[in-house]
Order: sequence, then structure tokens, then C-alpha cells
Amino acid sequence: MSEQDNRNDQEIEKVENVQGHVEDKKHDDDDEYEKVCFICRRPESVAGKMIDLPNHISVCNDCMQKSFDAMTNGQIDYSQLMNIPGVQIFNMADMEQNVPKKQKIKKKKEGEERKPLVDIRHLPAPHKIKAKLDEYVVGQEYAKKAMSVAVYNHYKRVATDTMDDIEIEKSNMLMIGPTGSGKTYLVKTLAKLLDVPLAITDATSLTEAGYIGDDIESVVSKLLAAADNDVEKAEQGIIFIDEIDKIAKKKNSSQRDVSGESVQQGMLKLLEGSDVEVPVGANSKNAMVPLTTVNTKNILFICGGAFPDLEGIIKERLTKQSMIGFGADLKDKYDHDKNILAKVTTEDLRTFGMIPEFLGRLPIVFTLQGMNEEMLIKILKEPKNAILKQYQKLLALDEVKLEFDDGALKAIAKKAMEKDTGARALRAIIEEFMLDIMYEIPKDDSIGQVVITREYIEGTGGPVIMLRGQEVPRIQ
Ligand code: ADP
Repeated sequence: MSEQDNRNDQEIEKVENVQGHVEDKKHDDDDEYEKVCFICRRPESVAGKMIDLPNHISVCNDCMQKSFDAMTNGQIDYSQLMNIPGVQIFNMADMEQNVPKKQKIKKKKEGEERKPLVDIRHLPAPHKIKAKLDEYVVGQEYAKKAMSVAVYNHYKRVATDTMDDIEIEKSNMLMIGPTGSGKTYLVKTLAKLLDVPLAITDATSLTEAGYIGDDIESVVSKLLAAADNDVEKAEQGIIFIDEIDKIAKKKNSSQRDVSGESVQQGMLKLLEGSDVEVPVGANSKNAMVPLTTVNTKNILFICGGAFPDLEGIIKERLTKQSMIGFGADLKDKYDHDKNILAKVTTEDLRTFGMIPEFLGRLPIVFTLQGMNEEMLIKILKEPKNAILKQYQKLLALDEVKLEFDDGALKAIAKKAMEKDTGARALRAIIEEFMLDIMYEIPKDDSIGQVVITREYIEGTGGPVIMLRGQEVPRIQ
């Protein structure tokens, strides 16, 4: 190559650099992700080294070979093809392999050892996990304790892989508690605390493969997405499946139960630990999405549900037991027992419609208490990111002090109890009356403090407003 040519090439490269610097940046970002074959959609880790073609198209060796074979065997006569009206030979330059990043799998770094996400030396002891949970979650003492121990054991098992010949069983959990009692919140807090990826799904959308709805494996692909498509990270994450009671066996049904018992059956393998082939960046498998294999052995599954009517089943069993023999109790002994849910056994859950194999794979079962007024008041003001603290901070930015008197807190809790959706109702109630406050206060610079009163919540009065540097309250 002459010197002139060389210079020309450099110049061209320079021009391209100026125009294509955005492209290059994109390329750098992509370096962390695996290439995907344009034809068969398999990722590089499965299909082997890719051949790069222009426009970011990559093709695996197998597909390239197949294309060559087809050409050399004379199966395609291109000269003829060109003459057929309506047939176009595709032009590579017109195409670009636009595989979105969410469909790419993160590369494994070479020589890097597979190390657990949660280091056993830094794994907080159960009491420390619980202490952290205490900062955010009010009450639910038993649930927090059970969870802390289960999570601690689970990650100990992940970190050590196996201990001699004694293999430690998985600590998958089943949480039973009414709506708004903090099931999702507990799991979210836990995942944040341990810094592991978390996927939250709803069992109601799951159906047996082949039917309308999400395949059971889609829960794993959600986790993969939560782990930035990093398979190793996902393999140590947490999957929370809510509304698990909705996949109970349907009673007296002669039809195929595609969203109930079959889903339970389908989940058995996942819960226990197996290799599943999951679509990357999509909920269902199809020809256009790449697939990858995720092992669920170290994924912690937490199932949660409200299990309505379970109380009735427990009551019936207890009453039946206590009515036999001389020590027979009164028939309505358990009618007023508030803690009846905590007496649940596997047998009750079977009666409810969960299959024994499924229950066997969720060895840790615990219940959460329904909310009472006292707990709701605590939720309002005690957790680290309590709703009241959030509003106080917002108004503090305007240099206004926000206070709630005890009567107001009681009134809010009472209103929330009426809605019967646990702690979930609190936010809606507060937003409703805080709207006016947040609208009016910034109007007037002289306001220094606002006290929300019971009368204001109940709609019989207004908040107490105090002006800056003034002690006398101004009643609105
Ligand atoms: P569910 O049991 O239906 O999954 P969630 O966990 O979604 O209930 O709870 C709804 C909201 O209520 C949470 O986002 C959280 O802010 C609040 N909450 C519920 N229970 C508690 C609790 N024990 N402590 C603090 N906040 C809670």
C-alpha cells in the first residue's frame, strides 16, 4: 500500500470517527453483552464464536456453514433469482442487526471465578438481618424472624455449595397474610438489604405452557432482566410469586385446570432446582428472541398469598379435633381467635387446594398478622421512610414544619381500617387531604408550621397554621 493510500485511509477513518463517535460509544456499551446470531438467535456462549458482518450483524459458524452449503450445492441459483420478477436479493447494507440490549446476555469474564453474590464472611447473621428489617417493617415479628433465618441459611448454602455429603435443602418460603400486611414490602426490603436481584410476579397470570397467559418459566426471565441479563447474578437472586393462592386446585372442575393445578405441577422443577431455558428480554419463547439457560438451584423462591377461607378450614379442623373425647370444647371456641391463621398446617393448605408436592418444596411456612389501628399508626410514623416523614421532608424544603397530632393519626388509621386493605389504604387517605396543604402552603411565605388535627381529617375543621416567629396559632 502506497503512503498516499495509507493517508487516505487514515483520513477516511478520521471522518468516520467524527460522524460515528456516537456509534462507537454504543459499541463500547455493547462489549459487555454477548453477540446473538442473526439467523438462529442463539447467543455466543451457546453457538460459539460469531462471524462479524457489516452493520453489527453477527452470524454463528453453523449458520454460516449452512448458507455456504446451500450456495455451493447449487440449491440456489442467484443468476436466475435475479430475473424472477418481484424477487429481490437482500442487501446487507439495508439491514442492521438491531437486537435490543435487553435481549443480549451479559458475557462471562474470562478467568473469573464464580463467586457468590453474598459473601459468606460478610453475610449478616439472622439477628442483624432482622434488625435491619425492623427499621423498615413494623410488627410481623415472627415473619421477620423466620425470614431472616431462612435467608441466612439459604445464602450460607449458596456460598458453600455443599457441605461434605450433607446437602442443605433449599429454604423456599410460603408467606400467608391478608392483603396490605407487608408481604411484598418485606421481600423488597430483604432483597435491597442483601443487594440481590429480585423479580416480583403474579401467579394469576401464569398458565401451563401452550395456553394463553405467561409460561411458568417467564418468572425466571423476569429475574434475568432484573439482573441486567447477567446469568450468574440471576442464579442467586430472589423470585417472589404473589397471589399463590390463586393457583389452588379448582374444586369440582371437570375441565383441564390450566391455570391452577397444572401451574403448581409446572413449578415443581423450578422450585427444586433445574436448568430452564428462558427467553432473554421477553416473556415467551419465539423465533425472534435469544434463549439462555438458567439454573434455579440457588434461586430463592418466596411465595405469598392471602389464602381467603383458610381460616375457615383451620377452624373446622381444630373444632373437629377438640370435639372428640371428654375434653370437648365449645363449638365456637375458635370463632374469636384472632391468631387462628398462625395455627395453619400443611394439611390445611392441602385442603385449600395446594398439591402436596408443591408444599413439600416450600419448607418454610409462616403467617403475617392482619393490621390493627395501633400497627397502622406505627407504620405512619416509625419506619425509616415512613409516609409522614416523607411529607415532613417535602415541606421542610419550603422551611415549613409539619406536625400531626395524635388524634389525627388515630383518625387516619381508623379510616384505613374501614377500607380493609391493610396498610395499603394509608397512602391514598393521606394523599387526599395533603393535596390541599401542599397546594396552599407555598402560596404564603409567612407560614412557619402546620399541625394536622383530627377535625381536619374528619372534615369538621381545618389544620392549625402558625406564622413564622409567631406563637399564636391561626385557626383556618
Ligand atoms: P401485601 O401484603 O398485599 O403484599 P404490601 O407489601 O404491598 O402488601 O404493602 C403495601 C404497602 O403498605 C407497602 O408498600 C408498605 O409501604 C406498607 N406496609 C405494609 N405493611 C407494612 C409494615 N408491616 N411495616 C411498614 N410498612 C408496611
